[in-house]
Amino acid sequence: MDYTIAKGAFDIVPFEKEEEDKWRESGRWQYLETVLRKTADDYGFKEIRTPIFERTELFVRSVGEGTDIVSKEMYTFIDKGERSLTLRPEGTAPSMRAFVEKKLYAQSGLFKYYYLGPMFRYERPQAGRYRQYHQFGAEALGNTSPEQDVELIDMMWEIYRRLGLKNLTLCINSVGDSQSRSDYKKALLDYLTPFFAELSADSQDRFSKNILRILDSKDPKDKKILSQAPTILNYLHPESKSHFERVLQLLEGLNIPYKIEPALVRGLDYYNKTVFEITSGELGAQNAIGGGGRYDGLTAALGGPDLPAVGFATGIERLLQTMLKQNAPFPDPPHPFIFLIPLGTKGLEFCFPLLCRLRHEGIPAEMDFSAKKIQHGLSLANALSAEYAVIVGDNELSSNRTAVKNMQTRESEDVSLEALFAYIKKLLDRKRG
Ligand code: AMP
Repeated sequence: MDYTIAKGAFDIVPFEKEEEDKWRESGRWQYLETVLRKTADDYGFKEIRTPIFERTELFVRSVGEGTDIVSKEMYTFIDKGERSLTLRPEGTAPSMRAFVEKKLYAQSGLFKYYYLGPMFRYERPQAGRYRQYHQFGAEALGNTSPEQDVELIDMMWEIYRRLGLKNLTLCINSVGDSQSRSDYKKALLDYLTPFFAELSADSQDRFSKNILRILDSKDPKDKKILSQAPTILNYLHPESKSHFERVLQLLEGLNIPYKIEPALVRGLDYYNKTVFEITSGELGAQNAIGGGGRYDGLTAALGGPDLPAVGFATGIERLLQTMLKQNAPFPDPPHPFIFLIPLGTKGLEFCFPLLCRLRHEGIPAEMDFSAKKIQHGLSLANALSAEYAVIVGDNELSSNRTAVKNMQTRESEDVSLEALFAYIKKLLDRKRG
């Protein structure tokens, strides 16, 4: 029997010993989640939480049959009612499904949503690539303006700025409207046809299924052939072209540096016009921390009103890994303000209600339930990084006094037992200012 964790998954725990594993510490995840939610609030995005599983058709229809996600990477299973269900590989299709199904479009106001949670893709696990991974994503619907695209890009950029990330590259491209894309696909087909036999097996497969995806190929020989291929930017129709130019102009106005990447098409079928990706030099082969684009036809494809939309998603694991590699700051983990060290039954009787009272007042407090040895209590207080420690044994109870010890400076203050609660509260008030 093997009871160990499934391949490609990982645990998020309070403490990891090795520096390179510290991105899996739960305190770091909580911090990141706080920054993500606060930024979403500041930009006016509201949370949507959808189920972990959906009907398989949803992803086939929206992500697209020819994509790697749908053709190779889905966790699909048949439930006891003979329904085909899939663990969500991404967050846009479920959010749009909920938007349509819950008729959120009938509400007044703006249609701006975010999601945060686990996603599942059956991929070859490696650094930065997991089978269960997590995404934060945001979607804005109802607006065709380039400002809408840039609101999303700016929010993504701002998240990374708030987290202290550096050396990021924004790669951007336009895949145009469907007319531009179909003209371009024709040109690409004409160009690649004579090279067909030389293309990698993957690219040959994509040739008929989804020719644009050949541009994603990492195969060196494919890349050489592609270096002379026509670029989509020369096939944009006037409206797509001016949209793209305006997006770039807005980015310049915000001082967000960008790199135009004509081969950037992204893996999902539903994109049109603007597509973008943010990469970090620190991540090695799996260097994209986030990406997104415009997907104007998706709500209509899912049976809803035909609304334009833009969105992005960023991978939590890669964000945390980049933060660690760049020594970005994390807040100190929570620790007890006061640590109580009772000795013997009487000490316990005094300390336990005090412990609860402190906590009821919102004072982070901890105590040594074993109540046997001062040394045991003190080393626990140290291990937990408690700021102050108090010993309550027979001596303290008979003299009715104890010492509140500052664990950093080693100084201590003598206090009567009746005054102890008020004293601790005052200490914390003083610290909090
Ligand atoms: P995508 O929609 O595929 O571009 O994914 C958006 C972001 O999610 C990527 O830029 C990565 O940061 C992250 N991501 C996607 N797939 C995985 C995976 N298997 N493991 C870890 N992160 C992933």
